[in-house]
Amino acid sequence: MPLILLTNDDGITSPGLAALREAVSPLGQVVIVAPDRDNSAVSHSLTMHRPLRVVKQAESVYALDGTPADCVSIALARILKKRPDLLISGINSGPNLGDDISYSGTVSAAVEGTMYSIPSMAVSLAGEPPYDFGPAGKVAAKLAVMILARGLPENTLMNVNVPGDTAITGTKVTRQGRRLWENSIQEVFDPRGRRHYWIGGGTPVRDSGKDTDVHAIQTGCISVTPIHLDLTNHEGVFHLRDDWQLDKEDLT
Ligand code: MN
Repeated sequence: MPLILLTNDDGITSPGLAALREAVSPLGQVVIVAPDRDNSAVSHSLTMHRPLRVVKQAESVYALDGTPADCVSIALARILKKRPDLLISGINSGPNLGDDISYSGTVSAAVEGTMYSIPSMAVSLAGEPPYDFGPAGKVAAKLAVMILARGLPENTLMNVNVPGDTAITGTKVTRQGRRLWENSIQEVFDPRGRRHYWIGGGTPVRDSGKDTDVHAIQTGCISVTPIHLDLTNHEGVFHLRDDWQLDKEDLT
């Protein structure tokens, strides 16, 4: 029976995690190791300046007072008795499209799994509240069956976004688009009249080329993006080496 590790960044009480657990439980032995509170947008941070505590909440359910990446590394090293066959992170409340991926705790947990050669998938519900995680749970379970049977390419995770507020019209294998936020820094004042800045909200500015994750969701399709751990721009290597002749420069 396959061993499936679940985590998320919305915290262990998130209904998206409960829906994911329900959907994939028939596929194998499921263990949850998840942050004890919301860790959205913590990216791949590791907690190194204080010890971490694991609280066993129920059989195969562990809460950790750390980040999603902490959860994966401690699950693999200390909690699980064998290597998991699959790691799934999610289901996130809200999309992880384009530039969101750089900030996402959900995706970073899957990056951490991939670093340890565990086939890993991040699943996000690209809708607005109130969220219905049911359809995304079904998508996650179907993809989980495929990954368990076929594995994933080396150093590659699967980033899945499921439309939340429209009828699903199909599935698209996509590339990462661009999705920046305009007016996402709000100016607020505390009771003493001091100025603060609060990051959040705003309007997404999109590069929604037809082959992107952003476009797939805009058109009501499930988006599946293979994400590689290697962030190198391989054309950029040739550009710096051949056009700049940077290897030949004396930089000392
Ligand atoms: Mn989140």
